[in-house]
Amino acid sequence: MEPTTRDELLDAAASYAETVPIEVDLSAVDWECSERATRRAGACIYHRGTDLVTIRLTWDAYRAFGWEEFTGTIRHELVHAWEFQRYGESGHGSRFAEKARKLDAPRHCRSFADARLRLVCSSCDWEARRYRASEAVKRPARRRCGACGSRYRVEHGESGRRWRTHAGYLVARRRLGSEW
Ligand SMILES: [Zn+2]
Ligand SMILES: [Zn+2]
Repeated sequence: MEPTTRDELLDAAASYAETVPIEVDLSAVDWECSERATRRAGACIYHRGTDLVTIRLTWDAYRAFGWEEFTGTIRHELVHAWEFQRYGESGHGSRFAEKARKLDAPRHCRSFADARLRLVCSSCDWEARRYRASEAVKRPARRRCGACGSRYRVEHGESGRRWRTHAGYLVARRRLGSEW
């Protein structure tokens, strides 16, 4: 079950963090939801002096991405927490990049605008966004809408191309070439 409330999202994120293979002292990490309108999916704040870390997750980003994609944001913020706890500072440099690669986390803090792909339900108003060709994008026929369980289509934002099957994805990918 995907989280459906802010509290569930924070609980799910804290539990998920325990499964991520990174040496972060999670007892010194607080989780909160951002209520402000922001284009960033998450943020990691270091409280110098107390050594506490706050990871702030953006509810609207979670709603847009869905849980599976959003775990990438959680891993990204955990890399920041790891750098803060270990080095007292954090950025998106080579040390960050190397750790992020090991965890298959995005190197850059994602903003909503970066999502090029949309999953759109055929029978309700559910929509999710994706940055890259995940399984949900490549093989939509194997998955279902996150709200009502119907089939969905994938839309490539810039070109407007759409597909509902793996074969359709392959055609779109080939036709788009470098414009993918
Ligand atoms: Zn970041
Ligand atoms: Zn639906």
